[in-house]
Amino acid sequence: MDIIKSLRSLIGETAVLDAVDTASRSAGVWRPDNLRAAALARPASTDEVAQVVQWCHKNQVKLVTAGGLTGLVHGADAEPDQVILSLERMRTIEEINPQQRTATVQAGVTLQALQEAVEEYHLMFPLDLGARGTATLGGNAATNAGGNRVIRYGMMRDMVLGLEVVMADGTIVSSLNHLIKNNAGYDLKQAFIGSEGTLGIITRLVLRLREQPVTRNMAFVGLDNFEHVADFLRHMDRSLGGTLSAFEAMWGEFYGLVTTPPAKGSPPIAQDYPFYVLVESQGADRELDTQRFNNAMETAYESGLIVDAAISQSESDCHHFWELRDDVEQTMHGGIPVIFDISLPIAAMDEYTATLRQTLGQVIGDHKLWIFGHLGDGNLHVIVQVQADDYLRLRPLIEQQVYAPLAAFQGSVSAEHGIGLEKKPYLHISRSETELALMRTLKHALDPTGILNPGKIF
Ligand code: ZN
Repeated sequence: MDIIKSLRSLIGETAVLDAVDTASRSAGVWRPDNLRAAALARPASTDEVAQVVQWCHKNQVKLVTAGGLTGLVHGADAEPDQVILSLERMRTIEEINPQQRTATVQAGVTLQALQEAVEEYHLMFPLDLGARGTATLGGNAATNAGGNRVIRYGMMRDMVLGLEVVMADGTIVSSLNHLIKNNAGYDLKQAFIGSEGTLGIITRLVLRLREQPVTRNMAFVGLDNFEHVADFLRHMDRSLGGTLSAFEAMWGEFYGLVTTPPAKGSPPIAQDYPFYVLVESQGADRELDTQRFNNAMETAYESGLIVDAAISQSESDCHHFWELRDDVEQTMHGGIPVIFDISLPIAAMDEYTATLRQTLGQVIGDHKLWIFGHLGDGNLHVIVQVQADDYLRLRPLIEQQVYAPLAAFQGSVSAEHGIGLEKKPYLHISRSETELALMRTLKHALDPTGILNPGKIF
C-alpha cells in the first residue's frame, strides 16, 4: 500500500506532500513534533476530504486534522505512520448574510479573515484570541476556543449555528443550520465542538454574527486584595448595563513582567499593587457609554474597591492596554515557561493561588510564577518558568502541584485549551469515571476503528 500514490490519485499530485516535504515545513508555525507524518493531504473541498478519509478508513491509516496549529496541548501531533489532513486550501468565506447575521465559511478560513470580512456590514464575529491571524475557524470549533470576550459572548460553542462534518468512514453529515433556535432533536454539532478532531472532521461552519459595537472604554486598575478584584467584577457588570466586554485580571508579578524592559510596554499605573484588572466596555452610544463607564469607575474608587486606575482617552490607549495583557511572550525570556489553563470558582482563586505559591517553592525551589487570566470566566493562566536544564525533571512535579488541588474546588484542568496529549494524564481530576465512560462510548460509536486523531484526550 502506497499512501502517497493512493492519496495523489484521489485529490491530485500537488495536493499531497510526502514525508520529506512535510518535514521541510518546519519553519514557522509547524512544530517539530508535527512533522513526522507519512504524508500531508491538502484537500480543496469537502468531497475531497471525504475521499481521503474514506481511503484511510478502508486501509486503517490514522488521520490527524491540522488547522492553524496554534493549540497549546499537542492536540495535532502526528506519528510517522499517520496522515496529516490540512484544511489550508479550504479558505473560502462562502456567504455573509447581514439580515440573518450569519456567515458560512470553509473550515480553513482564519479567525482574523472572518473578523475583517464582516466589518463592512457593521457586524462582528466576537471570538477573539492572540493567534487570530493563524488559527482557523475549523480549529476554533474543534477545540471550542475561548479568548478575551467570553464574558460577553460565550465560547466558540455559543457562536456556531451549524456544521458540516466528515465522519470517520467518509460520510458527509451536512448540518448547516442557520437558525438560532432549533430544538428538532439532538443538537448534533455540539458533539463535534470541542472534540479535538477525535469524532469527525469539521469542513464547513455557519457562524452567528453580532452587531459591531461603536464605542470602547477601558481602564487599567490597581487593587489591594483579591476580594476587591472579585467585588470589582460584580460592581462593573452591574453598573455597565450589559456592555462589559472583558475583565482580565493580572497578579502583580505578571504586570511587572509586561511593563518592565525587555518588555516594550510602559506601565499605565504604578507597579506595586498586588492585583491589576483590565476592564473593557463596548457599546453603541458615544456620549452615554463614556459617562456611564466613568461613573462606574468613580464609584468604585470612592467606595475603596480600587486604589488606582488609568482610564483610556483614545483607541490607541485601548490598544496599548491590550498589548500589555497579550504580551505573554515575555514569559519566554530567561527560562522555559510551563503554561497552564485552569478553571475554578472565583471564591476559591485566592486560596488556590496562595497555596500554589507556597507548595511550588517547597517542591521545585527557584522558579518564576506568573498568574493572569479571564477572571470573569473563572479562567486563570498560570505560568511557571524554570531553567532549561531542569525542565524535564520539574515539569511533572509542577503539573502535579497545579492540577491536584483543583479536584477539591471542582475546578478544571482545561478551561479553553483542550486536553490533547498534554493533559491526558490529568483528565480524571475534572471528569468522573462515568463521564469518561460516556466519552468512550461516543468515540466508539462515531469512530469505531479509531482512525481520527488517535490517542488524544483519553
Ligand atoms: Zn486565555
